[in-house]
Amino acid sequence: MARLEGKVAIITGAAQGMGAAHARRFVEEGAKVVLTDLNEEKGSQFASELGENALFLKQNVTSAEDWANVVAKAEEKFGPVNILVNNAGITMAKSILETTEEEYRRIVDINQVSVFLGMKTVIPSMQKAGGGSIVNISSINGIVGGAVGYTDTKFAVRGMTKAAAVECSHYGIRVNSVHPGVIATPMVVQEDTKAAVEEFAKHIPLKRVAQPEEVTNLVLYLASDESSYSTGAEFIVDGGITA
Ligand code: NAD
Repeated sequence: MARLEGKVAIITGAAQGMGAAHARRFVEEGAKVVLTDLNEEKGSQFASELGENALFLKQNVTSAEDWANVVAKAEEKFGPVNILVNNAGITMAKSILETTEEEYRRIVDINQVSVFLGMKTVIPSMQKAGGGSIVNISSINGIVGGAVGYTDTKFAVRGMTKAAAVECSHYGIRVNSVHPGVIATPMVVQEDTKAAVEEFAKHIPLKRVAQPEEVTNLVLYLASDESSYSTGAEFIVDGGITA
């Protein structure tokens, strides 16, 4: 039997990169998937390729109003939500001295406040469904330090996951965080960064960066009932970078 048969999932930032890989696999595994993203053209094109069990909705994850709309439309089309993957995010690689207050507040809003809003809006729907699984996408920079702003928000996602896991245990909802290393998505691999990424890969114990689908395998496990005894935990998928 498919591993997500009959489940309703919301995946943010699903127009490209890891979010798109998760959405494709979730549909293959029998889920009904709501894909959201700021990029309406790319997202709706991709969702239509996935067929009738995929619905694209334009969303800015920093907006409480957009979150309310996404959950209402998901319930209307597919029913109460069983799975939430808080995946949308941006990166920033500047020093403290170079980062403006505006840039700092922006990354906190997109990478951190969004995860709070997502959980706050989706939990009541999961309660109606009788339980659920929330997967919050952090980073290895939620385990070890990196650039300011990105690191701060990814540590916050890991912490928020633990607070939510304890609270949500009363409702049959599990909450875990995923910490990818360097993954070949448009966020990281561009024409002008290719050479630097290849050079960095030589220093990774497994000697390569990962494909998005290698993170999907973990997200799928956490989203499914196979991970029924895991909550409040961090799961690293980094080829050994933090070893
Ligand atoms: P990506 O840039 O390829 O895709 C991110 C998607 O999020 C894009 O489609 C973008 O339009 C969307 N998005 C950005 N801001 C948004 C907003 N405000 N509202 C709605 N959608 C928005 O990135 P990716 O590499 O697939 O990363 C996915 C997640 O994984 C991010 O949270 C990222 O921080 C994390 N991550 C990535 C890596 C990596 O190496 N690629 C490593 C660790 C963690």
